[in-house]
Amino acid sequence: MGGLDYPRTYQEFRDWFPDDAACVAYLERLRWPDGFACPVCDGHRAWRTAKSTWMCAACGRKTSVTAGTIFHRSHTPLSTWFAAAWFVTSQKNGVSALGLQNALGFGSYETAWAWMQKLRRAMVRPDREMLSGVVELDQIYVGGRSAGKKGGATDKVAITVAVERVGPHRLGRVRFQIPERANSNEQLDFACTVIEPGSTIRSDGLPLFRKLATMGYTHEYVNGYQADDITEVLPGVHRVASLLKRWIAGTLHHAVSLDHLPYYLDEYAFRFNRRNSRARGMLFYRLLQQAVATDPHPLTELYSS
Ligand SMILES: [Zn+2]
Repeated sequence: MGGLDYPRTYQEFRDWFPDDAACVAYLERLRWPDGFACPVCDGHRAWRTAKSTWMCAACGRKTSVTAGTIFHRSHTPLSTWFAAAWFVTSQKNGVSALGLQNALGFGSYETAWAWMQKLRRAMVRPDREMLSGVVELDQIYVGGRSAGKKGGATDKVAITVAVERVGPHRLGRVRFQIPERANSNEQLDFACTVIEPGSTIRSDGLPLFRKLATMGYTHEYVNGYQADDITEVLPGVHRVASLLKRWIAGTLHHAVSLDHLPYYLDEYAFRFNRRNSRARGMLFYRLLQQAVATDPHPLTELYSS
C-alpha cells in the first residue's frame, strides 16, 4: 500500500531513505517479512553484529541482508542504489544507461550500463501467476545489433509473445520467450509454462499450434495470414509488437544487443504488466522486493553472457 509499503512521491522517497541505515532496514523488511530467517538453519533468533549483518543465535552464521542479492559486494552506498531504482521505475518508459549516468552523475557510461543490467536482472523473476482467460499467442520479429557483425549489421530475432485479452480493446499481462528455433515445440512448452490450463489460446493456424487443443486448452485459430490487414489478426500481439519496437527505438535508442535481448524483454514485461499502476512507487517496491531475491551477477558475467 502506498505510503505504508513504499513511498508515493519523490518527497516521501527522500523522507523515507535519508541514509544507508534506512535503506538496510527497508531491505530487511522486504527480505524477511516475517522476521529474520537464517539461510543455514532457518533459525529466527539473531543479533545485529554490524550495520547490515546479523548473526544467527542457533548456528552462529553471519548473514548480511544484501548477501546473494544484486547489491552483494557493491562498494556503492545503498542510498545510491535506491536512487537508481527510484529513477528507473519512476519514468514511465524507463531510462537508457546514458540517462542513468546523467541523472546520478556516474563518471563512466560502463558503470551506468552495468547498473542497468543488474536492475534488469532483478526484473527477471517473472510473476508466478500464469496468464489466463483469452490469450493470444504468436511470433514476432525484432531487429537488433549482433555482436561479431560488422558495423550496423542487424539481425531479426523471433520472439514468442503471449498476451491476455481482457476486453475488445484491452490487453492484460504479457510474457515473452526467445525460442532457439522458430515455430517449434518450444512454443508449446512456453505456452504450457505461462498459460493456465483451461484458458483459451488464439493463434494462427499452424498445425503445430493445433496440438494445444489436446493439451488442456481451448484453441481458436485464425487463418488470417492471407488477410488484407495483418494487424487485425491477433491484434493484441501486434499491438505489443509495435509498442515493444517503439520502446526499443525511443528509450533504448536501438542500442539493443541481441545477446542481452532477454533482459530487455524482462524489463519490458515488468513495465507492461504494471503500466496501469498509477502508483509508480509500487514498481520501486516490486523491483527492490525482487532485487533482494536475486543472485548477484558480477560484471564479468554480464559482459560474457
Ligand atoms: Zn542459523
